[in-house]
Amino acid sequence: MNPRVLALCVALIFSLQVRPLAQTPPQVTLVKAAHLLDPKTGNVLSPAAVLIEGNTIKQVGAPSLIRPPLGAKIIDLGSATLLPGMIDSHTHLLLDVILPAEAERARHYNGTMTIVELLAIAESPSKRVLMGAQNAREDLESGITTVRILGHSGIDGDTELRDAINAGELVGPRILAAGRKLVTRGEGYVRNLNPALADAILNQEFLFIEGAEGGREAVRQNVFHNVDVIKVTAEENLTVAELAAVVEEAHRNHLKVAVHAAFKVPIQTAIDAGADSIEHGNELTDEQLKKMRDKGIFLDFTPASYGEFFDRMFEETLAQTLAMRAERLQANAATRKRYDDLIHRLQSPEVKFEGAFDEQDRQRYRDLVQRVLKSGVKFAAGTDMCWFYPGKTCGQATIMALLNLHSAGLPALDMIRAITTNAAEMLGWQDRIGAIEPGKFADLVAVPGDPVADITELERVQFVMKDGQVIRNDLARN
Ligand SMILES: [Zn+2]
Repeated sequence: MNPRVLALCVALIFSLQVRPLAQTPPQVTLVKAAHLLDPKTGNVLSPAAVLIEGNTIKQVGAPSLIRPPLGAKIIDLGSATLLPGMIDSHTHLLLDVILPAEAERARHYNGTMTIVELLAIAESPSKRVLMGAQNAREDLESGITTVRILGHSGIDGDTELRDAINAGELVGPRILAAGRKLVTRGEGYVRNLNPALADAILNQEFLFIEGAEGGREAVRQNVFHNVDVIKVTAEENLTVAELAAVVEEAHRNHLKVAVHAAFKVPIQTAIDAGADSIEHGNELTDEQLKKMRDKGIFLDFTPASYGEFFDRMFEETLAQTLAMRAERLQANAATRKRYDDLIHRLQSPEVKFEGAFDEQDRQRYRDLVQRVLKSGVKFAAGTDMCWFYPGKTCGQATIMALLNLHSAGLPALDMIRAITTNAAEMLGWQDRIGAIEPGKFADLVAVPGDPVADITELERVQFVMKDGQVIRNDLARN
């Protein structure tokens, strides 16, 4: 028997023997607001009320039509707009990469993982899970009530974090945890590690797909750690047979498979092997989009790289700010001049940081968004958030990264769907989250204005409820 079920049975028997009649009725709460947005239809209910019993939505409608029982808690959010709690369907809460200087990247090339990602995975798993707990709380405070953590959590950091939140020991969003990423050996993803330590480092973070049977075994290892989803990083050397075996074994265990595939060949492998979602999908062709639509495969946009996000984070992560640097050098005119020259060069348009995207890249993302909309492919959005952004919480940086998708041309309502209804469907949780409807979990957020008219309202979340519990209410005195 599953240990959690066993523990529950023991607790139940104990409570029946000691306190046979102890049963308090669930808390009933009525949340009222001037407007409620239904992302699925785009309809706005004004004014609106949501009746919640325990952690479940019971009724949604005009306040005049809902009669809360005596003793119900009333929360009046005044002129705010309610919408479903947001879902970040691609994040890495146990990783806090600081983008390294260009020179350092060049000298310590480790494949497509940066040197700092490698340092992060070599850190103590205990330290990383504590950081994950902080990031989880910060996400929730920004209105992200569900996240899917797709790797880089050590062996069981994400599943343990999920269980601690579910048990009420920590405050955070609902978590779908992928455990370790499934990868192939030998391509550019991770390289040049100290040979004496390489396996120890890699086994802490990855499971290797070595042949179709090896792929099945990797899924089983993650199932042992009770994961909610399987994440695969597809590179050119992953075969369709290997990935199809992974998908089959995952589906046999009722788990979906999210495949990181940015380039054309791995995208095709993911489509042919029957992945449930393709993460990133940067080089998707129209033909591939058509196949995805026919097979019902989701595209998970990861828009952090679509706009200014990296450029701005790069500025913030310079070891010293340019202003501080200049201040420290005031006494020494000659040195100061040298730094002034440096500042001048850093600010000139010819200097390009890796991660800074030019107009051509931006156009490519705008084009991708339009082609996806035209194709009828189902899509959601996640951030791929794994960075340390000085001066912002994880939640603030996450919303900022998501909004790039709107800058790349996705209309506001589609943007909201990508992080509510659509995301819920991609996760297979459409019966629980992503909408404010009777029977769903009471995960709600409120923003002061109209998020369809101005999508940046999502950066101004003033009320967060998860599971019927108020996490944040800046409107309490309204
Ligand atoms: Zn990722």
